[in-house]
This record gives sequence, C-alpha cells and structure tokens, in this order.
Amino acid sequence: MESLLLNVLFIIVFLQLVPLFLELSKHRFSYYQKRWIINTSSSIGIISCILFPIPIMEGYIFDLRLAALTIAGLYGGILTSVLSGVTIGFRFFIGGVGASATIIEVTMLLILLALTTAWFHRSLRKNKLIIGSSIALSAAVIALLNSVFIFGATLDWRFVTMYLVLTWGITVLIIYLYEVFHEYLLINKRVIKAEKMEMVSHLAASVSHEVRNPLTVVRGFLQMIEQEGIPDEKRKKFMRLSMEEIDRADVILGNYLTFARPSPEHTQVLNIEKQIHKTLQIITPLANMNAVQIETYINNYKTRGDEHNLQQCLINIKKNCIEAMPDSGKLRIETSKEESNLILTISDNGNGMTKEELSRVGEPYFTTKGREGTGLGMMAAFKIIETMNGSLNVASVPYEGTSFYIRLPLIESGSSQRDI
Ligand code: ADP
Ligand code: MG
Repeated sequence: MESLLLNVLFIIVFLQLVPLFLELSKHRFSYYQKRWIINTSSSIGIISCILFPIPIMEGYIFDLRLAALTIAGLYGGILTSVLSGVTIGFRFFIGGVGASATIIEVTMLLILLALTTAWFHRSLRKNKLIIGSSIALSAAVIALLNSVFIFGATLDWRFVTMYLVLTWGITVLIIYLYEVFHEYLLINKRVIKAEKMEMVSHLAASVSHEVRNPLTVVRGFLQMIEQEGIPDEKRKKFMRLSMEEIDRADVILGNYLTFARPSPEHTQVLNIEKQIHKTLQIITPLANMNAVQIETYINNYKTRGDEHNLQQCLINIKKNCIEAMPDSGKLRIETSKEESNLILTISDNGNGMTKEELSRVGEPYFTTKGREGTGLGMMAAFKIIETMNGSLNVASVPYEGTSFYIRLPLIESGSSQRDI
C-alpha cells in the first residue's frame, strides 16, 4: 500500500503538478524551457516509479511506469520518445531479464500512442478517460503476455487482476485530475478576458462622449473665426483654443486605444536610456512652463517592448508629475538593477496623493483635475507595463511628493541585439 501511494505521488507531482506550475507561474518560460522542464520532471517521475516498485505479493512486483509513460505520452506529444529512451536506458542500467522486455513494451506503447494521440486531444473528457485508460491497459496486457511467452513466467491470477486494475485506475485518476485542472484554468482565463472586454466596451461609449465635447467646442470656435470683422487677436486665441481641444481629443483616444488593443504590436529591444531621453524632449516644454527641474541618473539598460507604448507610458507618468508641481519642483528619473529586472524610478516633490486617491490611481476616469484631466493616463500606463511583463508601483505622501517604480525584465547588456 505504501509503495503504491508513493508511485501515485510520483506521478502526480512530476507529471501533473510540475506542468501545472509552469502554466500558473508568472514567469513566462520559453517553449524550449518548458519542454526541458517537463521532460526532466517526467523522466524523474518514471525513474522514481521503477526505483520504488510495488510488491503485490511474494515473488511479484510491479510498478506504474506504463501508466506514467501513457500519461506523459498523451499530454507531451513528441516528448514520449525521449521518455521512452530514458525508461529503456534506465531499465538496462538496473539490469536483469526485465530489461529486454521493457524494449518490447515501450515500443508497443509508442505505436499505440502515435495512433491515438490526435484522436485523444479531439475528444471530450469522458472519451479521453476511455482512450487513455485503454492504452495503459493494453500496454499492461502486452507486458503480461511478454513475461509469459518470452520468459515463461507463470502468473497468479490475483497478481494479474491487481496489476491491470491498478494501471487502469491510476491512469483514469490522473487524466481526470489533469482535465479538471485545465478546465478550471481555461475558465479563469476566459473570465479575465470577458472582464476586460466589458471594460473596453463600457469605455468605448464614454470615450466617444468625451471626444464629442472637444469637437463641439472646436466647431464653435471655427464658426466664430469664420465671421467677418473679428479682430486678429481674437481669431488667434480661438485658433489656439481649438488646437488645445483637438490635442485633448487625441490624448483621450490614444490612451483608450492602448488599453483596448489586445497585445503589443511590435516588440523590440528597447534601450531605456534612449527612450527616456526621447520622452524628455517631448515633455521639457511643459516642465519649463512650470519651472520644474529635471534630474536624471540613468544607465543604458535594455528591455523588450513596443516603443510607442513605452513612450506613451513614460509621458503619461512624467506629465502627471509635472502637473503635480504647478509652481516649481524637481522631477527625478533614475534607473537601477535588481536581479534580472531593471527598475525605473520617476519621482516628483509635488502635491502628492491621499491614501484614498492613491488607491484609486489607474481606475478609469479617476481624476482630481476636473475638466483638465481625463483620468485615463495612469490606466494606460499600468496596462502597458503589464503587457511588458513588468510591474508598476506608486508611493505617495500628501504635500511631499509621489514616486513611480517601474520594474521591467532586463535584457543583458552586451548582447549583440540592436536596440533603439
Ligand atoms: P489625469 O492626469 O488626466 O487626471 P491620470 O490617470 O493620469 O489622469 O491620473 C489620475 C489621477 O492620479 C490624477 O488626477 C491625480 O489625482 C493622480 N496622480 C497621478 N500622478 C500623480 C502625481 N505624480 N502626483 C499627484 N497625483 C497624481
Ligand atoms: Mg495624466
């Protein structure tokens, strides 16, 4: 009983929990990394099964390697061949008459898997259980026939029953657990997506409303400009106001679009130093107007992402900082490195935020700037950093200032990739 539980535990941990962990983990592994990890962990699982066989009764021992190999084969695809190699190799390492029998068993199992895997993946859960357990069962029968016809073993019917029932039962159990977990994960992902879609459509209505206001205002100004006998000075003022309104509509639409767009469009290696300088050029006139000094302490760290998105995020944050310092202040931009991340800190010594305001930053339409604000800038900033696999944290003290901490995956400098 003990070793049976141990075998089941090996299969659950190495063949089920490890792949599950890979899917749940925040760190995004590359396809090859995933393959490697799953290969290694499945091999460890199968070897452990062989190392700790189950003594059913005197003279008869067996293990769950066929069940393990079936499961790994059905879910792992090509990796089965690697695992079969491991199984056979390891069985030879142990030695004994069973070794050559393992080759026959595993080869037969591989053929069965090759014939049924595609069908298995198309099937519903109930059929998956039937297909998977039939394969494991067939492999077990082959193993038994092997021992009778090749090695002339005489089999006890109790052993045969136990062996078949256990192999079948464990396969059913594991496939069932796997499918249930996956369904759960899938539903979770769909819910998150549905939530976002709802948000996007909810915003679409209000964004068009928001854009209509500036349009109406601009139309009014144009009408006035059209009238004859308007002094030049007034005409210029109306033109300037019209342009401001158009810019405002542009900002609203831009921020909305970054939020609504599903994923980054064009990612490339970005040099954070260059990107900061580019955005500073855009923001400097505004800083000068508010008598804000800009201090930078930046390194040429590299990360990956969409250039326009990152620039928009940086501009949104810097603009907020400058707006929080209406008459003079200091905008400080700094980079540092922590393990495999770069940290970009943008801080101001402006008005700051209360706890309540701080907790609402990033909420759509949350603004304390009345007609001047859109309340979409920080939402877009959070979204952009998220799509770059990073994180954005904000700390603020009223009347002292605010700091934004952007953490992004670091690409090692010195790599020959071209950056912009
Ligand atoms: P908007 O700037 O149009 O108001 P944002 O989404 O950019 O919208 O910002 C939302 C709100 O967060 C701002 O109205 C402001 O109250 C607060 N906020 C953001 N950045 C800062 C900052 N650096 N200092 C103080 N308050 C800030
Ligand atoms: Mg803003």
